[in-house]
Amino acid sequence: MALNRWDPAAPAPADDLDARVLTSRLLGQDPSLVLHGGGNTSVKVTRTSIVGAEERLLLVKGSGWDLASIEAAGFTPLRIEPLVALATLDRLSDVEMARQLASYRTDPAAPSPSVEAILHGLLPFTFVDHTHADAVVTLTNTAGGAGLVREVYGASVLVLPYVMPGFDLARLVARSLPSIGPDTRGIVLMNHGIVTFGDTARESYDRMIDLVSVAEAAIAPREPLPAPAPPLPRGPSRRAAIAGLRADVSRAAGAPMIVSVHDDDAVLAFAQHPKVADLSGGGPATPDHVIRTKPAPMLGRDVAAFAAGYTAYFDRCAAGGRAEVTMLDPAPRVILDPELGLVTAGRSAADAAAAEDIYRHTIEIVLNAEALGGYRALSEQEIFDVEYWDLEQAKLRRAGRPAPLAGQVALVTGAAGGIGRAIAGRFLAAGGAVAGLDLDPAVAGAFDGASWLGLGCDVTDAGQVGAALDAVTDTFGGLDILVLNAGIFPAAAPVAELDSELWRRVMRVNLDAAADLLREAHPLLRQAPGGGRVVVIGSKNVAAPGPGAAAYSASKAALTQLARVTALEWAADGIRVNVVHPDAVFDTGIWAGGVLEARAAHYGLSVEDYTTRNLLHTQITSADVAELALALTGPAFAKTTGAQIPIDGGNDRVI
Ligand code: ZN
Repeated sequence: MALNRWDPAAPAPADDLDARVLTSRLLGQDPSLVLHGGGNTSVKVTRTSIVGAEERLLLVKGSGWDLASIEAAGFTPLRIEPLVALATLDRLSDVEMARQLASYRTDPAAPSPSVEAILHGLLPFTFVDHTHADAVVTLTNTAGGAGLVREVYGASVLVLPYVMPGFDLARLVARSLPSIGPDTRGIVLMNHGIVTFGDTARESYDRMIDLVSVAEAAIAPREPLPAPAPPLPRGPSRRAAIAGLRADVSRAAGAPMIVSVHDDDAVLAFAQHPKVADLSGGGPATPDHVIRTKPAPMLGRDVAAFAAGYTAYFDRCAAGGRAEVTMLDPAPRVILDPELGLVTAGRSAADAAAAEDIYRHTIEIVLNAEALGGYRALSEQEIFDVEYWDLEQAKLRRAGRPAPLAGQVALVTGAAGGIGRAIAGRFLAAGGAVAGLDLDPAVAGAFDGASWLGLGCDVTDAGQVGAALDAVTDTFGGLDILVLNAGIFPAAAPVAELDSELWRRVMRVNLDAAADLLREAHPLLRQAPGGGRVVVIGSKNVAAPGPGAAAYSASKAALTQLARVTALEWAADGIRVNVVHPDAVFDTGIWAGGVLEARAAHYGLSVEDYTTRNLLHTQITSADVAELALALTGPAFAKTTGAQIPIDGGNDRVI
């Protein structure tokens, strides 16, 4: 339900722009009104130019800003007079509109203005708010359509038929201005959304909440869907099925994709609905959702058939389209599967999450509209025209080169601190989705954002490792890169005094757990879209052991041999396995609290000399090891497997 979030007790806004920021955020923070960059708002102000002239300006939401978090800088200042004059034209191409809007900016550094800037400019009110509120698009996407909307709202709103957003919509609104009287509180745009306006930010905001509440009240409570049959049970075969689906989606997309699986009752019941094909085939609830969801979800798991269907849709509609266009990738973004539930795909975890949010709202909208007589969205050609709108295509073109790990999934063990944490952070910065395992449950909060999944996990416990792999596959769709990093380094002990239990514990963590995880990860890595990669964190001790570290050195030597055999066996699957051998990395927790100083003193060295005891006289940091690990996953090492690379500043015993 849309709640009025205006706080009468809060300090009054300093000026109109301040008020504009405030109510824009109130709208943006309510997902029943605004989702993922949808919606736009504006305010009209008078400002004095640098030469002292008074100018009437429209400050309208800039693209790239989200209403939930918008700031004053997110509103683009445009000269109103020439802007509004554009609406008198009969035609205006998208490209020309964008050029004209850019030329009316009084601040060239301001973002590109909303595509609805002309509409905002010509409505004769200081504040204008536009959303795609769920309840409103539910009413407008019904068989009863405009008649139902008029019945619900009476004369309090102007109802306009669907036209293409942008110039066509602005022109229609310009021609409809005479129909806006003193009692008109908003405009309902069929199959699209709602506009409200007012002389104050609060008036326009209150009207938005009131009109949306009226629509909500018109939607009758509906029977919940019957309880669904259980989803595919978690475990190896479910993981392999999801990774296979991700491989197919990535192949169709032409790039690795993040795939995320949701099987709560609400979405599973919809995916199992006997009429799911009809319900889901009707198109998006508001046009700009098509960018995130494609025109319709894929049903089941036949990606090749979906891609063929998408290509046929493109061929049909491009012929009747508005401009020459290039086909987007034909991979699905939303998948409904009776055994998996709702599966969403994107080039990043955030994109997959946005598609999930939008489709969860779409499910509610479709079911509510069905209860009101049937869900009727836009025609195929109208959806196509928005999906291939030049302004949307331009956004995609601006996106630039993808990050090195875009769409790829890495799992790093021992990720709460030290080298593991540095690798996880580096992979995230490279655009990857990263799952970090660690005995320390604080790993969950090691990083923020949709691309991070931190899981408390004892890697020596098969049950916990299985559950972690289940979570990784459900969250990101599979596994491209495995970094075997977790390890323990016990206190020095000579062989003559070995503690058997400690020896076995070192072997369990440093060696046995790695072997188990390799076996469990193999079915996922072999389905990695760009070929699986394993990076094993060995040790300088393998080639140059020291006295007192028998258990550690032996475990790392055995781990290295395990990696070499794995490289031999998995090359046929396109999986590369390489080992890095760092010397002691001193910027980690184990050396803190005076340990480093004590070790240096033990050897009669200064800390500086102790930490740079190598041929290059350089200190090895965890960030250095992370950089090498990233390189091993990338094109520089695309033809390398079974290699061992020292990162130790040069050691005459290793060389
Ligand atoms: Zn809109």
